[in-house]
Amino acid sequence: MPKLSIRDLDVHGQRVLVRVDFNVPLGAEGQIADDLRIRAALPTLDYLLEHGARVILCSHLGRPKGKRDTSLSLRPVVQRLSNLLLRPVAFVDDCVGEKVEKTVAILQNGDCLLLENLRFYPQEEANDPEFAKKLASYADLYVNDAFGSAHRAHASTEGVTHHVPQSAVGFLMQKELKYLGDELANPQRPFAAIVGGAKASDKIGAIESLLEKSDSLLIGGAMAYTFLKSQGIGIGASLVEDDQLEVSRRILDLTAQKGKRLLLPVDHVVARRVETEQLDKKRRKIVEFRDMKNTKGAAIEDGWCGVDIGPKTVELYQQTLLGSKTVFWNGPMGIFENKNFAKGTYEIARAVAESGARSIVGGGDSVSAIHASGLTDKITFLSTGGGASLEFLEGKTLPGVAALTDR
Ligand code: AMP
Repeated sequence: MPKLSIRDLDVHGQRVLVRVDFNVPLGAEGQIADDLRIRAALPTLDYLLEHGARVILCSHLGRPKGKRDTSLSLRPVVQRLSNLLLRPVAFVDDCVGEKVEKTVAILQNGDCLLLENLRFYPQEEANDPEFAKKLASYADLYVNDAFGSAHRAHASTEGVTHHVPQSAVGFLMQKELKYLGDELANPQRPFAAIVGGAKASDKIGAIESLLEKSDSLLIGGAMAYTFLKSQGIGIGASLVEDDQLEVSRRILDLTAQKGKRLLLPVDHVVARRVETEQLDKKRRKIVEFRDMKNTKGAAIEDGWCGVDIGPKTVELYQQTLLGSKTVFWNGPMGIFENKNFAKGTYEIARAVAESGARSIVGGGDSVSAIHASGLTDKITFLSTGGGASLEFLEGKTLPGVAALTDR
């Protein structure tokens, strides 16, 4: 790791500002629906507190768009964090200003303070230098453990580093970089990557990079329809990005030229009205693609849309996963929020977990499918970063990491 690690810092008695990613999903009543991101920060927080640091935590939650929005307060995190840390956690309902100053001034060694949602201030996302300076003024040292936000140069991830003497990588960030970086760059082979989700455009860069690194690339979700359409295969009314057809075609050509293996769904669950929660069984049907080369114009009928991968695709993908030594998965195979269209995603979750391979899963939907299936313990590494993990996979520099102090 070319950057200072938390272990390189002398934290005893120091005020340490830690950028965490407590951007947790909230339930209907504002309760924490999944605390993976809070748990993931514990190694860093335990280390700092046990070494006598005065810990000041800052994070964003949701998209309050630069305004105070009580439904996006970090207050509900306090109790959960306190239960997990087995010590009290103080809270200030602001992230800068007099109240913060006063509370920081009375912190003792081993105390932990959580500040309010950074994004209540537009200056956070604008990476405003004055705002960054103010945040930094509460601390002697800075640690970035918010992998999920590292792809954005915001005041709390980038700006702040210019105003503290030393800034270091936290344990979670280190782990994310290790698994998504070294591990996928030098995987045990065969290495299979599965990518799904809504938009090909969001993931094209990552797909190109995974195509280089992996032995097999399996595509699912709506993005598969853009690839299928680019091959002249009828996709009915499925979600498609017409402005991505050219690039999809280029990727498929490149795959063939390089002798790589990219698999697209060979059958589908299709539906007429995808917005209906409870679709009647008769309106689900499986369209079979026997041989991709012979299916031109004979794929999904007009008026129908692909909403999940079909059983043959599941079987095909499972076979590839079972023979792999490394597996990476990002993005659902269908509209899995609707239980009628969730089977493909859950079957893939099971196949990833049971493959016996080293498995790395990223993206909120895939991670939640793993949790919901009770398979969490069977996954080697669950990444907390969606967008950040894709940008990192693409080989882009993460500003939140680049800004930290060089070793
Ligand atoms: P992403 O954020 O790009 O990973 O996309 C996740 C979203 O893709 C989920 O909300 C899914 O409902 C959606 N999705 C997956 N497959 C399909 C599909 N076949 N048609 C429409 N949406 C889909």
